[in-house]
Amino acid sequence: MNTLDPGISEELEAFRSTVKKFITTEVAPNRQRWRQQRCVDRQAWIKAGQAGLLGVSIPMEFGGGGGSFRHETVIMEEFARIGFLDFYIPLHNAIVAPYFVRFASPAQRERWLPTFSSGECILGIAMTEPGTGSDLQAIRTTARRDGCCYVIQGQKSLISNGQSADLILVAAKTDPARKGKGISLLVVEPGKVEGFRRGRTLEKAGLHAQDTAELFFDDVRVPEENLLGEVPDQGFAQLMDSLPQERLVIAVQAVASMVAALDETISYVKGRTAFNERIFDFQNTRFVLAECATATQVGKAFVEKCVAQLVDGQLDPSLAAMAKLWATEQHFHLVDRCLQLFGGYGYLSEYPISQMWADARVQRIFGGTSEIMKELIGRGL
Ligand SMILES: Cc1cc2nc3c(=O)[nH]c(=O)nc-3n(C[C@H](O)[C@H](O)[C@H](O)COP(=O)(O)OP(=O)(O)OC[C@H]3O[C@@H](n4cnc5c(N)ncnc54)[C@H](O)[C@@H]3O)c2cc1C
Repeated sequence: MNTLDPGISEELEAFRSTVKKFITTEVAPNRQRWRQQRCVDRQAWIKAGQAGLLGVSIPMEFGGGGGSFRHETVIMEEFARIGFLDFYIPLHNAIVAPYFVRFASPAQRERWLPTFSSGECILGIAMTEPGTGSDLQAIRTTARRDGCCYVIQGQKSLISNGQSADLILVAAKTDPARKGKGISLLVVEPGKVEGFRRGRTLEKAGLHAQDTAELFFDDVRVPEENLLGEVPDQGFAQLMDSLPQERLVIAVQAVASMVAALDETISYVKGRTAFNERIFDFQNTRFVLAECATATQVGKAFVEKCVAQLVDGQLDPSLAAMAKLWATEQHFHLVDRCLQLFGGYGYLSEYPISQMWADARVQRIFGGTSEIMKELIGRGL
């Protein structure tokens, strides 16, 4: 049921047509090649900017589309529909850019936000390190104050858009003695600093066109104006404030991917026969699909509730953790069951369901693992 104001619905549907057109002309014909080369073409980012897909929820006064998180969900749904989550527009638009909208000083907003909508400045965020992921307070990267600069020393790993990012928000300890309370977020523009190095593109089980990488910071000097919000030691609070939205992004993608996997499977089982019957006509198949369809509808309703809260500026962090936990666990379970209905062909790379299965696995890990989601939910009970 669509409960949105008809005006908003109409505008979102018009935006959906734009996104669909972009995907049909620019993404679908290239995605296999991008998977093989382990990254999306930079030119595709520029074209996404020209089509109006980047910075869609950044206020218009900063060159953005002036939309809301609902516009972001349209992008996520349409990419999920073709089973291609590797093009990390959601990370750029709905995870990193909001840090600037929320926490940047007026001068920082003026300086950076207008560059986020063209595709010439791809965004990343670097929290995870080789030694720590779940325990953010244990990061070892430091940003030492030296005159009017910060000097960053350390290493990050598993960073999305790691090879392509032109601007990276880096979590570092500005006051190592204070654990979480001594973390700040610093803006690093790789093209403008010395001592920054990108490592190899990490080989993954799925999401092959996503350039996940290691990053090295060897006494990288950034001016004090690059401290997000211009007040030190606010990083942990900024992260805690923003991570619920990141979790909701992942939940939206999970539910949209469930819809896509289900459609793909229904179409396959109606076309293939065994024992002179369609696979669809076996009671087992219909029962499995009925359960999958039910889980998808439940997921849609729950995630929609969280999206509505977010759009109203009232996303409950505990609900966001529940949405991430439930949707990603269901997503993987559903794709695994769907793959089973394809028989041996489900395991072949050339069948989209196998890619969907490999891509689904990481959803339970990044943005906070399922175990960490349970910790967060449990603590609030
Ligand atoms: C494809 C991909 C893209 C990513 N992109 C980014 C990115 O752009 N930026 C970024 O900063 N990071 C990124 N990450 C990192 C991701 O967020 C981390 O992998 C994740 O948070 C888990 O951290 P970890 O890998 O260090 O696992 P660990 O923290 O070492 O956890 C290992 C296991 O222990 C469990 N565990 C840990 N603590 C507890 C606890 N208290 N109770 C119970 N169990 C626990 C975990 O749930 C997990 O099962 C990405 C990861 C992947 C795979």
